[in-house]
Amino acid sequence: MKLHEYQSKLIFSKYGIPIPKGRVAATAQEARHIAEELGGRIVIKSQVLVGGRGKAGGVKVAKDPQEAEQLATQILAMEIKGLPVRKVLVDEAAAIETEIYFAITNDRAAKKPVLMASSAGGVDIEEVAAKTPEQIVKVHIDPLLGLREYQARDVAASIDLPRDYWKEFIKIAAGLWNVYKETDAILAEINPLVITKDKRLVALDGKMMIDDNAMFRHADLAEMRDIDEEAPAETEARKYGLSYIKLDGNIGCMVNGAGLAMTSMDVIKLFGGEPANFLDIGGGAGAEKVAAAMRIILTDPHVKAVLFNIFGGITRCDEVARGILVAMDEVKPKVPMVVRLVGTNAEEGRKLLENANMITAETLADAAKKSVAAAQGK
Ligand code: GDP
Ligand code: MN
Repeated sequence: MKLHEYQSKLIFSKYGIPIPKGRVAATAQEARHIAEELGGRIVIKSQVLVGGRGKAGGVKVAKDPQEAEQLATQILAMEIKGLPVRKVLVDEAAAIETEIYFAITNDRAAKKPVLMASSAGGVDIEEVAAKTPEQIVKVHIDPLLGLREYQARDVAASIDLPRDYWKEFIKIAAGLWNVYKETDAILAEINPLVITKDKRLVALDGKMMIDDNAMFRHADLAEMRDIDEEAPAETEARKYGLSYIKLDGNIGCMVNGAGLAMTSMDVIKLFGGEPANFLDIGGGAGAEKVAAAMRIILTDPHVKAVLFNIFGGITRCDEVARGILVAMDEVKPKVPMVVRLVGTNAEEGRKLLENANMITAETLADAAKKSVAAAQGK
Protein backbone atom coordinates (compact mmCIF):
# COMPACT_ATOMS: atom_id res chain seq x y z
CA MET A 1 0.00 0.00 0.00
CA LYS A 2 1.33 3.39 -0.99
CA LEU A 3 0.93 6.42 1.25
CA HIS A 4 0.57 9.97 0.03
CA GLU A 5 3.34 12.48 0.60
CA TYR A 6 1.39 14.30 3.30
CA GLN A 7 0.70 11.03 5.12
CA SER A 8 4.31 9.90 4.87
CA LYS A 9 5.64 13.22 6.14
CA LEU A 10 3.24 13.18 9.07
CA ILE A 11 4.61 9.79 10.05
CA PHE A 12 8.18 11.04 9.55
CA SER A 13 7.56 13.96 11.88
CA LYS A 14 6.33 11.62 14.61
CA TYR A 15 9.72 9.95 14.42
CA GLY A 16 11.62 13.20 14.81
CA ILE A 17 12.32 13.91 11.15
CA PRO A 18 11.90 17.63 10.46
CA ILE A 19 9.26 18.48 7.83
CA PRO A 20 7.95 21.82 6.58
CA LYS A 21 4.84 23.30 8.21
CA GLY A 22 1.76 22.72 6.15
CA ARG A 23 -1.55 20.95 5.61
CA VAL A 24 -3.50 19.20 2.94
CA ALA A 25 -6.39 20.88 1.09
CA ALA A 26 -9.13 19.60 -1.20
CA THR A 27 -10.15 23.00 -2.61
CA ALA A 28 -8.32 26.09 -3.79
CA GLN A 29 -10.08 28.20 -1.13
CA GLU A 30 -8.81 25.90 1.57
CA ALA A 31 -5.34 26.13 0.05
CA ARG A 32 -5.57 29.92 0.26
CA HIS A 33 -6.55 29.80 3.95
CA ILE A 34 -3.64 27.54 4.76
CA ALA A 35 -1.31 29.84 2.82
CA GLU A 36 -2.62 32.81 4.85
CA GLU A 37 -1.95 30.97 8.08
CA LEU A 38 1.56 29.97 7.05
CA GLY A 39 2.56 33.33 5.58
CA GLY A 40 5.51 33.86 3.24
CA ARG A 41 6.30 31.75 0.20
CA ILE A 42 4.23 28.63 -0.23
CA VAL A 43 4.62 25.43 -2.20
CA ILE A 44 1.52 23.75 -3.66
CA LYS A 45 1.98 20.03 -4.23
CA SER A 46 -0.36 17.61 -5.97
CA GLN A 47 -1.10 14.51 -3.86
CA VAL A 48 -1.19 11.58 -6.24
CA LEU A 49 0.36 8.17 -5.73
CA VAL A 50 2.99 8.47 -8.46
CA GLY A 51 6.46 9.95 -8.60
CA GLY A 52 7.67 12.67 -10.94
CA ARG A 53 5.04 15.20 -9.93
CA GLY A 54 7.57 18.02 -10.10
CA LYS A 55 8.42 17.30 -13.74
CA ALA A 56 4.75 16.95 -14.60
CA GLY A 57 4.04 20.46 -13.29
CA GLY A 58 2.34 19.22 -10.13
CA VAL A 59 4.64 21.07 -7.70
CA LYS A 60 4.64 24.88 -7.81
CA VAL A 61 5.87 27.71 -5.60
CA ALA A 62 3.57 30.68 -4.84
CA LYS A 63 4.62 34.05 -3.45
CA ASP A 64 1.38 34.86 -1.62
CA PRO A 65 -2.04 33.38 -0.70
CA GLN A 66 -3.65 34.73 -3.86
CA GLU A 67 -1.15 33.00 -6.09
CA ALA A 68 -1.43 29.90 -3.90
CA GLU A 69 -5.16 29.82 -4.65
CA GLN A 70 -4.52 30.23 -8.38
CA LEU A 71 -1.92 27.49 -8.50
CA ALA A 72 -4.07 25.19 -6.38
CA THR A 73 -6.95 25.69 -8.84
CA GLN A 74 -4.62 24.76 -11.68
CA ILE A 75 -3.10 21.74 -9.96
CA LEU A 76 -6.45 20.42 -8.69
CA ALA A 77 -7.62 20.35 -12.32
CA MET A 78 -4.64 18.29 -13.43
CA GLU A 79 -4.23 14.65 -14.16
CA ILE A 80 -0.77 13.22 -13.51
CA LYS A 81 0.14 9.97 -15.25
CA GLY A 82 -3.56 9.24 -15.56
CA LEU A 83 -4.40 10.02 -11.93
CA PRO A 84 -6.70 12.98 -11.23
CA VAL A 85 -5.41 15.31 -8.50
CA ARG A 86 -7.92 15.41 -5.66
CA LYS A 87 -5.83 17.03 -2.96
CA VAL A 88 -2.91 19.38 -2.68
CA LEU A 89 -0.41 19.75 0.11
CA VAL A 90 0.17 23.38 1.05
CA ASP A 91 3.58 23.72 2.68
CA GLU A 92 5.78 26.63 3.61
CA ALA A 93 8.36 26.81 0.82
CA ALA A 94 11.96 26.05 1.58
CA ALA A 95 14.94 27.96 0.20
CA ILE A 96 17.00 25.05 -1.06
CA GLU A 97 20.77 24.86 -1.07
CA THR A 98 21.32 21.12 -1.64
CA GLU A 99 19.00 18.22 -2.46
CA ILE A 100 19.88 14.83 -0.96
CA TYR A 101 18.32 11.49 -1.78
CA PHE A 102 17.74 9.33 1.28
CA ALA A 103 15.80 6.08 1.50
CA ILE A 104 15.49 2.69 3.13
CA THR A 105 14.06 -0.21 1.17
CA ASN A 106 14.24 -4.00 0.90
CA ASP A 107 17.13 -5.57 -0.93
CA ARG A 108 15.60 -8.91 -1.80
CA ALA A 109 18.82 -10.35 -3.20
CA ALA A 110 20.71 -9.50 -0.01
CA LYS A 111 17.72 -10.45 2.17
CA LYS A 112 18.28 -7.26 4.13
CA PRO A 113 17.05 -3.70 4.28
CA VAL A 114 19.32 -1.27 2.51
CA LEU A 115 19.90 2.41 3.17
CA MET A 116 20.60 4.48 0.07
CA ALA A 117 21.80 8.05 -0.07
CA SER A 118 23.11 10.47 -2.63
CA SER A 119 24.13 14.09 -2.73
CA ALA A 120 22.65 14.16 -6.25
CA GLY A 121 19.07 14.01 -4.96
CA GLY A 122 15.97 15.63 -6.42
CA VAL A 123 13.86 15.04 -9.49
CA ASP A 124 16.67 13.48 -11.55
CA ILE A 125 17.53 10.62 -9.18
CA GLU A 126 16.37 7.96 -11.67
CA GLU A 127 18.82 9.32 -14.20
CA VAL A 128 21.57 9.34 -11.58
CA ALA A 129 20.77 5.71 -10.75
CA ALA A 130 20.93 4.75 -14.43
CA LYS A 131 23.95 6.76 -15.57
CA THR A 132 26.15 7.32 -12.51
CA PRO A 133 25.12 4.71 -9.95
CA GLU A 134 28.40 5.27 -8.09
CA GLN A 135 26.86 8.51 -6.86
CA ILE A 136 24.42 6.51 -4.76
CA VAL A 137 25.82 5.10 -1.55
CA LYS A 138 24.31 1.85 -0.26
CA VAL A 139 24.62 0.33 3.19
CA HIS A 140 22.90 -2.86 4.25
CA ILE A 141 21.21 -2.97 7.61
CA ASP A 142 21.25 -6.06 9.79
CA PRO A 143 17.57 -6.48 10.62
CA LEU A 144 18.34 -7.75 14.12
CA LEU A 145 20.85 -5.07 15.04
CA GLY A 146 19.08 -2.24 13.26
CA LEU A 147 20.79 0.78 11.73
CA ARG A 148 23.93 1.52 13.74
CA GLU A 149 25.10 5.05 14.36
CA TYR A 150 28.47 4.43 12.73
CA GLN A 151 26.72 3.33 9.55
CA ALA A 152 24.76 6.59 9.35
CA ARG A 153 27.99 8.52 10.00
CA ASP A 154 29.76 6.59 7.22
CA VAL A 155 26.95 7.47 4.85
CA ALA A 156 27.14 11.16 5.80
CA ALA A 157 30.88 11.09 5.05
CA SER A 158 30.44 9.16 1.80
CA ILE A 159 27.99 11.66 0.36
CA ASP A 160 30.30 14.53 1.41
CA LEU A 161 27.77 16.03 3.77
CA PRO A 162 29.39 18.97 5.55
CA ARG A 163 30.29 18.01 9.13
CA ASP A 164 27.98 20.61 10.67
CA TYR A 165 25.02 18.53 9.55
CA TRP A 166 26.19 15.10 10.65
CA LYS A 167 24.52 15.09 14.05
CA GLU A 168 21.15 16.02 12.59
CA PHE A 169 21.63 13.63 9.66
CA ILE A 170 22.32 10.72 12.03
CA LYS A 171 19.16 11.58 13.96
CA ILE A 172 17.12 11.63 10.73
CA ALA A 173 18.64 8.31 9.66
CA ALA A 174 17.67 6.73 12.98
CA GLY A 175 14.18 8.21 12.60
CA LEU A 176 13.79 6.83 9.09
CA TRP A 177 14.97 3.39 10.22
CA ASN A 178 12.41 3.41 13.04
CA VAL A 179 9.68 4.47 10.62
CA TYR A 180 10.66 1.69 8.25
CA LYS A 181 10.83 -0.97 10.95
CA GLU A 182 7.79 -0.05 12.99
CA THR A 183 5.37 0.50 10.10
CA ASP A 184 6.52 -2.68 8.28
CA ALA A 185 7.39 -0.50 5.32
CA ILE A 186 8.96 -1.82 2.15
CA LEU A 187 10.01 1.71 1.22
CA ALA A 188 10.58 4.85 3.25
CA GLU A 189 12.02 7.55 1.02
CA ILE A 190 12.91 11.21 1.40
CA ASN A 191 13.67 12.84 -1.94
CA PRO A 192 14.73 15.49 -1.52
CA LEU A 193 16.09 15.81 1.98
CA VAL A 194 17.32 19.38 1.68
CA ILE A 195 19.88 21.61 3.26
CA THR A 196 18.15 24.97 3.41
CA LYS A 197 19.80 28.33 2.94
CA ASP A 198 19.25 28.93 6.66
CA LYS A 199 21.28 25.79 7.41
CA ARG A 200 18.65 23.22 8.38
CA LEU A 201 17.99 19.69 7.16
CA VAL A 202 14.33 19.26 6.14
CA ALA A 203 12.44 16.38 4.50
CA LEU A 204 10.69 18.18 1.61
CA ASP A 205 9.16 15.09 0.06
CA GLY A 206 8.09 11.76 1.53
CA LYS A 207 7.10 8.46 0.03
CA MET A 208 6.16 5.28 1.84
CA MET A 209 5.00 1.85 0.83
CA ILE A 210 3.69 -0.51 3.50
CA ASP A 211 3.86 -4.28 3.15
CA ASP A 212 0.28 -5.38 2.49
CA ASN A 213 0.97 -8.64 4.30
CA ALA A 214 1.56 -6.68 7.50
CA MET A 215 -1.54 -4.45 7.24
CA PHE A 216 -3.40 -6.59 9.77
CA ARG A 217 -1.26 -5.16 12.54
CA HIS A 218 -1.50 -1.54 11.42
CA ALA A 219 -5.14 -0.55 11.75
CA ASP A 220 -4.11 3.12 11.90
CA LEU A 221 -2.26 2.88 8.59
CA ALA A 222 -4.99 0.82 6.94
CA GLU A 223 -7.30 3.79 7.51
CA MET A 224 -4.97 5.94 5.43
CA ARG A 225 -5.56 3.86 2.33
CA ASP A 226 -6.79 6.11 -0.46
CA ILE A 227 -9.31 3.96 -2.29
CA ASP A 228 -9.86 6.69 -4.90
CA GLU A 229 -6.31 6.11 -6.09
CA GLU A 230 -6.54 2.36 -6.51
CA ALA A 231 -7.61 0.41 -9.55
CA PRO A 232 -11.25 -0.40 -8.63
CA ALA A 233 -10.64 -4.08 -9.44
CA GLU A 234 -7.91 -4.26 -6.80
CA THR A 235 -10.13 -2.67 -4.15
CA GLU A 236 -12.86 -5.16 -5.00
CA ALA A 237 -10.42 -8.07 -4.89
CA ARG A 238 -9.15 -7.09 -1.46
CA LYS A 239 -12.73 -6.94 -0.17
CA TYR A 240 -13.14 -10.63 -1.04
CA GLY A 241 -9.69 -11.68 0.14
CA LEU A 242 -8.48 -12.40 -3.40
CA SER A 243 -4.92 -11.76 -4.53
CA TYR A 244 -5.35 -10.01 -7.86
CA ILE A 245 -2.79 -8.19 -9.94
CA LYS A 246 -3.73 -6.71 -13.26
CA LEU A 247 -1.34 -7.38 -16.14
CA ASP A 248 -1.26 -6.33 -19.79
CA GLY A 249 -2.26 -9.52 -21.63
CA ASN A 250 -5.66 -10.78 -22.80
CA ILE A 251 -6.12 -14.16 -21.11
CA GLY A 252 -7.87 -13.83 -17.76
CA CYS A 253 -6.67 -16.36 -15.19
CA MET A 254 -8.54 -17.79 -12.24
CA VAL A 255 -6.48 -20.26 -10.27
CA ASN A 256 -6.35 -21.55 -6.72
CA GLY A 257 -2.95 -21.22 -5.09
CA ALA A 258 -0.25 -18.67 -5.87
CA GLY A 259 2.22 -21.28 -7.14
CA LEU A 260 -0.30 -22.84 -9.48
CA ALA A 261 -1.32 -19.36 -10.65
CA MET A 262 2.30 -18.55 -11.53
CA THR A 263 2.67 -21.88 -13.29
CA SER A 264 -0.52 -21.32 -15.27
CA MET A 265 0.77 -17.93 -16.40
CA ASP A 266 4.11 -19.47 -17.39
CA VAL A 267 2.40 -22.17 -19.43
CA ILE A 268 0.14 -19.61 -21.14
CA LYS A 269 3.26 -17.71 -22.15
CA LEU A 270 4.96 -20.91 -23.25
CA PHE A 271 2.19 -21.41 -25.79
CA GLY A 272 2.43 -17.85 -27.05
CA GLY A 273 -0.28 -16.18 -24.95
CA GLU A 274 -0.20 -13.27 -22.50
CA PRO A 275 -1.96 -13.46 -19.13
CA ALA A 276 -4.30 -10.53 -18.32
CA ASN A 277 -3.90 -10.96 -14.60
CA PHE A 278 -2.58 -12.92 -11.70
CA LEU A 279 -5.40 -14.18 -9.54
CA ASP A 280 -5.25 -16.56 -6.63
CA ILE A 281 -8.69 -17.34 -5.23
CA GLY A 282 -7.02 -18.96 -2.22
CA GLY A 283 -7.66 -22.27 -0.54
CA GLY A 284 -11.22 -23.30 0.24
CA ALA A 285 -12.84 -20.55 -1.84
CA GLY A 286 -16.62 -20.80 -1.94
CA ALA A 287 -19.04 -19.92 -4.72
CA GLU A 288 -19.37 -16.27 -3.67
CA LYS A 289 -15.63 -15.68 -3.83
CA VAL A 290 -15.36 -17.39 -7.21
CA ALA A 291 -18.18 -15.24 -8.56
CA ALA A 292 -16.43 -12.09 -7.32
CA ALA A 293 -13.19 -13.24 -8.95
CA MET A 294 -14.92 -13.77 -12.28
CA ARG A 295 -16.60 -10.35 -12.14
CA ILE A 296 -13.20 -8.79 -11.48
CA ILE A 297 -11.48 -10.62 -14.33
CA LEU A 298 -14.23 -9.65 -16.77
CA THR A 299 -14.19 -5.94 -15.90
CA ASP A 300 -10.90 -5.80 -17.82
CA PRO A 301 -11.93 -4.98 -21.42
CA HIS A 302 -8.71 -6.54 -22.77
CA VAL A 303 -9.73 -10.02 -21.64
CA LYS A 304 -10.50 -12.14 -24.72
CA ALA A 305 -10.60 -15.55 -23.01
CA VAL A 306 -10.56 -16.89 -19.47
CA LEU A 307 -8.66 -19.86 -18.14
CA PHE A 308 -9.87 -21.59 -14.97
CA ASN A 309 -7.27 -23.89 -13.53
CA ILE A 310 -8.54 -25.45 -10.33
CA PHE A 311 -6.75 -28.10 -8.39
CA GLY A 312 -9.22 -29.31 -5.81
CA GLY A 313 -7.65 -29.99 -2.44
CA ILE A 314 -9.22 -27.99 0.34
CA THR A 315 -10.96 -26.10 -2.43
CA ARG A 316 -13.77 -28.27 -3.78
CA CYS A 317 -14.26 -28.30 -7.53
CA ASP A 318 -18.07 -28.43 -7.24
CA GLU A 319 -18.02 -25.25 -5.11
CA VAL A 320 -15.89 -23.54 -7.74
CA ALA A 321 -18.22 -24.75 -10.50
CA ARG A 322 -21.19 -23.36 -8.57
CA GLY A 323 -19.37 -20.02 -8.30
CA ILE A 324 -18.71 -20.02 -12.02
CA LEU A 325 -22.41 -20.62 -12.72
CA VAL A 326 -23.50 -17.84 -10.34
CA ALA A 327 -21.07 -15.44 -11.96
CA MET A 328 -22.02 -16.44 -15.50
CA ASP A 329 -25.61 -15.81 -14.71
CA GLU A 330 -24.78 -12.42 -13.33
CA VAL A 331 -22.20 -11.07 -15.75
CA LYS A 332 -23.19 -12.93 -18.94
CA PRO A 333 -19.63 -13.20 -20.23
CA LYS A 334 -19.12 -12.88 -23.96
CA VAL A 335 -15.64 -14.38 -24.07
CA PRO A 336 -14.76 -18.08 -24.34
CA MET A 337 -13.94 -19.87 -21.11
CA VAL A 338 -11.57 -22.78 -20.73
CA VAL A 339 -11.83 -24.85 -17.61
CA ARG A 340 -9.64 -27.51 -16.08
CA LEU A 341 -10.89 -29.09 -12.89
CA VAL A 342 -8.94 -31.81 -11.10
CA GLY A 343 -8.96 -33.15 -7.56
CA THR A 344 -11.64 -33.09 -4.88
CA ASN A 345 -15.15 -33.36 -6.34
CA ALA A 346 -13.88 -32.72 -9.89
CA GLU A 347 -16.48 -35.10 -11.34
CA GLU A 348 -19.35 -33.26 -9.61
CA GLY A 349 -17.87 -29.97 -10.76
CA ARG A 350 -17.65 -31.07 -14.37
CA LYS A 351 -21.25 -32.27 -14.30
CA LEU A 352 -22.41 -28.90 -13.04
CA LEU A 353 -20.61 -27.17 -15.89
CA GLU A 354 -21.81 -29.55 -18.60
CA ASN A 355 -24.44 -27.17 -19.89
CA ALA A 356 -22.47 -24.02 -19.26
CA ASN A 357 -20.93 -23.89 -22.72
CA MET A 358 -17.34 -23.97 -21.53
CA ILE A 359 -14.30 -25.45 -23.23
CA THR A 360 -12.97 -28.25 -21.07
CA ALA A 361 -9.37 -29.39 -20.79
CA GLU A 362 -7.67 -32.34 -19.16
CA THR A 363 -4.13 -31.10 -18.59
CA LEU A 364 -2.69 -27.68 -17.92
CA ALA A 365 -0.85 -27.70 -21.27
CA ASP A 366 -4.09 -28.53 -23.04
CA ALA A 367 -5.94 -25.81 -21.12
CA ALA A 368 -3.27 -23.22 -21.90
CA LYS A 369 -3.21 -24.11 -25.61
CA LYS A 370 -6.98 -23.91 -25.82
CA SER A 371 -7.14 -20.55 -24.07
CA VAL A 372 -4.40 -19.10 -26.28
CA ALA A 373 -6.34 -20.26 -29.36
CA ALA A 374 -9.61 -18.94 -27.91
CA ALA A 375 -8.08 -15.54 -27.22
CA GLN A 376 -6.96 -15.39 -30.84
CA GLY A 377 -10.50 -16.14 -31.94
CA LYS A 378 -9.58 -19.59 -33.26
P1 GDP B 1 8.27 14.71 -6.98
O1 GDP B 1 8.69 15.34 -8.26
O2 GDP B 1 6.96 13.98 -7.13
O3 GDP B 1 9.33 13.86 -6.38
O4 GDP B 1 7.95 15.91 -5.95
P2 GDP B 1 8.89 16.66 -4.90
O5 GDP B 1 8.13 16.93 -3.69
O6 GDP B 1 10.17 15.94 -4.69
O7 GDP B 1 9.18 18.03 -5.60
C1 GDP B 1 9.90 18.11 -6.80
C2 GDP B 1 10.92 19.23 -6.73
O8 GDP B 1 10.27 20.45 -6.49
C3 GDP B 1 11.93 19.08 -5.62
O9 GDP B 1 13.01 18.26 -5.97
C4 GDP B 1 12.36 20.52 -5.43
O10 GDP B 1 13.37 20.85 -6.35
C5 GDP B 1 11.12 21.30 -5.77
N1 GDP B 1 10.49 21.73 -4.49
C6 GDP B 1 9.67 21.00 -3.71
N2 GDP B 1 9.35 21.69 -2.60
C7 GDP B 1 10.00 22.88 -2.68
C8 GDP B 1 10.11 24.03 -1.84
O11 GDP B 1 9.55 24.11 -0.75
N3 GDP B 1 10.89 25.05 -2.30
C9 GDP B 1 11.54 24.99 -3.49
N4 GDP B 1 12.28 26.03 -3.86
N5 GDP B 1 11.46 23.92 -4.29
C10 GDP B 1 10.72 22.88 -3.90
MN1 MN C 1 10.45 13.81 -4.73
